[in-house]
Amino acid sequence: MKRMSAKRVLVGLTAVTLGAAALVVAPGDVRVGGSADAAAADIPTPEEFFGFEMGTTGKLASFDDVKDYFQLVATESDSVEYDVAGTTTMGNDYPILRVSSPENLQRLDEILEINQRLADPRSGLSESQARTLAAESVPVYYLEATLHSSEVGNLPALIDVIHRLSTERSETVQNVLDNLVILVVPSANPDGQHLMVDYFNETAGSDYNRVYPDLYHKYVGHDNNRDWIFFTQAESRIRTELEQKYRPVILHFMHQAGANNPRMWLPPFDEPLGPNVDSIVISAANALGAEIANAAAEESLPGVSTDDAYGIFWNADVFGTGPHRGASLFLHEIASVRDLALPFSNDDGTPPGATDRTMRTFDPYTDQEWTLEQIVEYAKLSMYTGLQSVAKDADDWLFNHLYRVNQRNMEPDDGPEAYIVPADQRDPYAVKQLVEIFDIADVEVDRALSTVRVGRDTYPAGSYVIWSQQPMGSWVDQVLEIDEYPDQARKCADCPLIMPYSETTDNLGMLLGLDVHPADGVRVARTERVTADDVTAPAPDVAPPGGAYLVSPTTYGLAHVITALQDDDVPVLRATAGFDVDGDEYAPGTVVVPAGEAAHDVLAEVSELTALPVTAVDTAPAVDALELEPSTTIGLIRGANNMPGGWLMWLADTYGLNYEVVEADDYADLSKFDTILIAPGVTRKRIVEGLDPAKYPERFHWARGVGEQGWQALADWVTDGGNLVAVGTAAETARDLLDLPLANATPTKREAFNAPGTLLNAQFDPSSPATWGMPASWPVWYYNSPAYEVTDDTATVASSYPTDGELLASGYAHGEDALHGLANIVTVEVGDGVATVAGADITFRSWPRVTWTVVTNAVFNGPATAVAADDVAARLAGG
Ligand SMILES: [Zn+2]
Repeated sequence: MKRMSAKRVLVGLTAVTLGAAALVVAPGDVRVGGSADAAAADIPTPEEFFGFEMGTTGKLASFDDVKDYFQLVATESDSVEYDVAGTTTMGNDYPILRVSSPENLQRLDEILEINQRLADPRSGLSESQARTLAAESVPVYYLEATLHSSEVGNLPALIDVIHRLSTERSETVQNVLDNLVILVVPSANPDGQHLMVDYFNETAGSDYNRVYPDLYHKYVGHDNNRDWIFFTQAESRIRTELEQKYRPVILHFMHQAGANNPRMWLPPFDEPLGPNVDSIVISAANALGAEIANAAAEESLPGVSTDDAYGIFWNADVFGTGPHRGASLFLHEIASVRDLALPFSNDDGTPPGATDRTMRTFDPYTDQEWTLEQIVEYAKLSMYTGLQSVAKDADDWLFNHLYRVNQRNMEPDDGPEAYIVPADQRDPYAVKQLVEIFDIADVEVDRALSTVRVGRDTYPAGSYVIWSQQPMGSWVDQVLEIDEYPDQARKCADCPLIMPYSETTDNLGMLLGLDVHPADGVRVARTERVTADDVTAPAPDVAPPGGAYLVSPTTYGLAHVITALQDDDVPVLRATAGFDVDGDEYAPGTVVVPAGEAAHDVLAEVSELTALPVTAVDTAPAVDALELEPSTTIGLIRGANNMPGGWLMWLADTYGLNYEVVEADDYADLSKFDTILIAPGVTRKRIVEGLDPAKYPERFHWARGVGEQGWQALADWVTDGGNLVAVGTAAETARDLLDLPLANATPTKREAFNAPGTLLNAQFDPSSPATWGMPASWPVWYYNSPAYEVTDDTATVASSYPTDGELLASGYAHGEDALHGLANIVTVEVGDGVATVAGADITFRSWPRVTWTVVTNAVFNGPATAVAADDVAARLAGG
């Protein structure tokens, strides 16, 4: 597979694609002029260290060994530093490497300081000063081998690259080290690297399937690169911190795609292009893609494609905050092999991937087989060409990406001058979380100390003002403006609209349940800069014996309140109707807690965490109530390798639910659960058939099928008095299980109807227990979800799509009018039990937090006991 020629090795530095050619060398082959690193002799080749050449079919190095190798290299080489950037979700190290010349590494602090200055649009630097500074510094090249843990081929390539950069002192390598600081992230998901590769190695020689059958991250699996607007996971926050500290000019993310995708896909990226991404960020990535494709052509590496895929610059959750800081986001996607590391070929003998010669695929792949060795070879070509290209124009990259892009972030644009989050939001916890997200993303948030005036409108002191002309201003626009999918996302004027690559909106205000007002001509005399710590509620007063504490249900932080009280064995009641105390009105679903020391302490703590106000009242409200089941026990049917189930585990852990995953053995006796929650994506087939126990080791037997008998046991558990909650596509599973009086009326033909990850207007009944605390109308997250016609009156509709008017609130949809008047959230009494279904994907990646309120209501209300108004006072007094 070594395709280079002797001639190419000797080509001078000026040849554009020299790196691609010259750098394909055998491990340990120190050559091409210059003297090797003094310590190079002590650095083993990957083959010597791991016992096999990188890219050997069927051989994957464990991540522990990879870390050991990198640490050894760092010890022996003065061009490589090993560091740990943080701790992962499962408690593993998140290692990084810094690779550069010894001189650059010694003055790294100075380099990073200059780069921060260049990137600071308030530094006051003129263009010529910025040019001068850029010449004194070195850009950071962010090189990430693995995020998706099943995409295992790029890391062995990176190991070869690190070996080469640490041992060879050719002019070519020296040029890279002198002109770049390479920030190497061997894996953005070390947990998954352990899970996936260790499992692959454990099952070698067995009859088991070789691919790890569950999520390769504790919670989010493959969604781990869809967390760039909420930053829920430790790994997402670590990457964001790295981007902030190192200010890379390029983020080179290595991925793999399906085995019949192009051998290697490279930018140019596809439509659509969002309005808030700077053109330099895009054009540089596109140019580099073309350069690597050219290198591949020169090296006779066939099957490379560009364009026509990965229209990722629409939703910030895909492309993250990096581009808003000036970093070009660069992806390569290399075709995968079979079972992670075994050769792939099509059954019919046709070559994998596109076979037509086109401008996008100028050299189709013609071999029948595709191997891990080839993945490694293509990945190295991409890395070497990228590194050399940026090294060659290092000063320009620094000036344009750090200085120019960030300067432009401060210029007025088409968007509003500011976004106002008025004081007195229905959910103070959502305000705190918005500010927390903005803290993570480096967004500045001001709080008004005096009245805010916008034209004739006024907002009281205490309102929040987020200016769009600030260093992260383009990201602020991205996540706060209403998204209108661009009609120009077409190949030609008459061509069909290109459908979204991913979700179609990232509107944080709607997702969190916040009222956000775009505003121009904002006048405010005094403001203070705040962080999430400054968003607080007053500490609760102490209620006298016989009195109570009240918490409004208009918050998705409700689960925090309930679970904290249950953890301390404090009784929790919820008013089933509205009531007033001393002239203040309380909504149905208000949490009513008997006075007492424990209650006060718990609520004071929760209030500090959530910024939710707690009201102490002297006498019990005379209102009918539900008393929640102490320590409500929740079973989660999540499905193996089912991301929505993983996200539900994250939500359940984050909000302290007392839950466990329902395992196959549990179906023999489900009575230990008060509530069972079925995750989106869990179908009847998944429950009945599950994982084949013959194909997976004992530890995955929890996910095996439970057969028709288990299916029936689940139905019986509900009719015997259980409380079933099903979300998204699982609503269909529940309908099937219990023969619910619902007919799914969502159109199925995509030409007529498509709403893929969209916010649609919906109405909620705040007097219905499932939707207590919800606004009467608010957008709901919708992903071509089930929507229902109710076929008899045993069903209570708690939420539906309005019968007329515009349904699209933010994002893309066509044909959505077909949903007018259909039901979304429905509660049905089934025998002695109850089922609540939400057709819309209201827990999607945890984003639509506003509707987490609905799940909270449903899981706790079902098993609760009714308490008549007359008895509430006695319950509060401890009766
Ligand atoms: Zn990937």
